[in-house]
Amino acid sequence: MRACFGVKTQLLISRVFSRPSTAVRWRAAQTRLLCSPPTGEEKPQRSMLRHLTTKIKATGPIPVAEYMREVLTNPVTGYYVRNNMLGPDGDFITSPEISQIFGELLGVWIVSEWMGAGRPTQLQLVELGPGKGSLASDVLRVFSQLRSVLGGASVSLHLVEVSPALSRLQAQSLTGSRSQEAHAEDEPAYRRGETTGGLPVSWYRRLEDVPTGFSIFLAHEFFDALPIHKFQRTQKGWREVMVDIDPEKPNQLRFVVAPSPTLASSALVQADEGRGHVEVCAEGGVIIQQLARRILEDGGAALIADYGHDGTKTDTFRGFKDHRLHDVLSSPGSADLTADVDFSYLRRMAGGGVACLGPVPQRTFLKNMGIDSRMQVLLRNCSDASTRQQLIASYDVLTNPAKMGERFHFFGLLHPRRLARPPRPEGLKLEKKPSPAPLPVAGFTELSFS
Ligand code: SAH
Repeated sequence: MRACFGVKTQLLISRVFSRPSTAVRWRAAQTRLLCSPPTGEEKPQRSMLRHLTTKIKATGPIPVAEYMREVLTNPVTGYYVRNNMLGPDGDFITSPEISQIFGELLGVWIVSEWMGAGRPTQLQLVELGPGKGSLASDVLRVFSQLRSVLGGASVSLHLVEVSPALSRLQAQSLTGSRSQEAHAEDEPAYRRGETTGGLPVSWYRRLEDVPTGFSIFLAHEFFDALPIHKFQRTQKGWREVMVDIDPEKPNQLRFVVAPSPTLASSALVQADEGRGHVEVCAEGGVIIQQLARRILEDGGAALIADYGHDGTKTDTFRGFKDHRLHDVLSSPGSADLTADVDFSYLRRMAGGGVACLGPVPQRTFLKNMGIDSRMQVLLRNCSDASTRQQLIASYDVLTNPAKMGERFHFFGLLHPRRLARPPRPEGLKLEKKPSPAPLPVAGFTELSFS
C-alpha cells in the first residue's frame, strides 16, 4: 500500500534533511554479514575458560544460554564488559557506526511517533545496549534540529548498558566530561550526567531500573546479544543442547545433548513446533513483555532492529572475531557471540495488548523513512569525490539486499490507541462519514511525497 504522509512525518523529514550535514560520518564497512571463515587458532582466553571448566566440573554440563551469558556479560571477564568491540578495529560494525543517516532517520521516527501519541509533555528516549553511543548521538542531533517541534516537552535520555567499558565510552561521546558515577545504594542509575545539548542522561544495568513514563525504546543489535537456549528433537522428545568439557581434550569445550528433559526444554518449546532444532531467547521474551507492559501503562513505542527471522531458522548461534566467523566454543570471551532474533517469538511474548508492526526489511524501512532523499541532499552538497564515493558505499551497505538491506529487520511495538480511529466528537455522531483514519506509522508504510 502506498500511503501519503500528508503533513507530519513528511514535514519532519524535509526539515531535518533539507540541510547538508556539517560533518558526514561514514565508514567503508565490513559487517557481521561480510565475514570469511577463520584462518587459524586464536589465543585462548585462559581465565574465562578456567571459570567455565570449573563450573562444569562442579555442576555438570551447562545450558547454551548460561554459556552465552557468562561469556558475554560475566561481570569480571565477560566479552562486553571488557571490550570495545565495535568498529573497524574491533570484531564487528553496526549500521549506526556505518552512517549517521541511519540514526537521523530513527530520530525522525521517534519524533513522528511522539507526535502520533498526541505530543505528551514528557519524552524519555530509552536505548537498550547503546554500544558506542553513536545512535543516541545522531538521534539527539535530530531532536535539537526539531527543537521547535518538540516544544516544551521535557526530554531525557536513559541508557541500559551492562558494560562499564562501553558506558564510559558512551558518557564521553554524549556528555564530554559532564557525567559521574552514582554510588548511593537506593540509586537505580549507576551513572548520571548531562548531554552536550543540555539533556539529562542516566545509565542503568537493567530495564526495570528505568523510571516509568512515556518512553520511546530503541534496541539496535541488542536482542541478538541476549542468551539463547538450544533444543534438539530426538526420538524421546525435545532435549536441551548443553556445553560440556571435551573428555579427550580437557581445555576444550563441546556440545552435548541432555539425556533427559530440562526445565527449559519442557517449558520453552511450543507444542506444535515443526522444526527439528530450535533456539529460544527467553531473556529477550521477558524484556519484550516488560516493554509491552510499559507501553500499555505509560504510553510510548519500541523500535527493535536486528538480524532475524520469523520463526523459520534453526541453527544461527555463531561467533565473530576480527570481522570473521569464529567457533563459538573456542577461546570463550575473545569473540562476540550472537544468534538471529526470532521475531515470531517476540510477537508471541508481547501478548495481545500492544500492536506489533513488522518485521520489515531494513531496506524497506529506510526507504520508507526517506533515505533516498537524504542521500540526494548530501550528494548535491558534496563536491569531494572520495567522500561522495564513501557516502554511496555506506548507503549500499545499509540498503543492498545482499548486505544489510534484507538480513536486518525492523519490528515495532505501539500502544493500540495509536492505530485506532480517533472517536468522533459527540455532535457529529449522526453523520455517516467514519472518523479519520489514524496517521500511518512511518517506516512501516511506504512514504509518498505528493
Ligand atoms: N546498539 C549498538 C551496540 C550493539 S552491541 C550498535 O548497534 O552499534 C550490543 C550492546 O548491548 C552493547 O552495548 C552491549 O554491552 C550491550 N549488552 C549486551 N548484553 C546486555 C544486557 N544483557 N543488558 C544490557 N546491555 C547489554
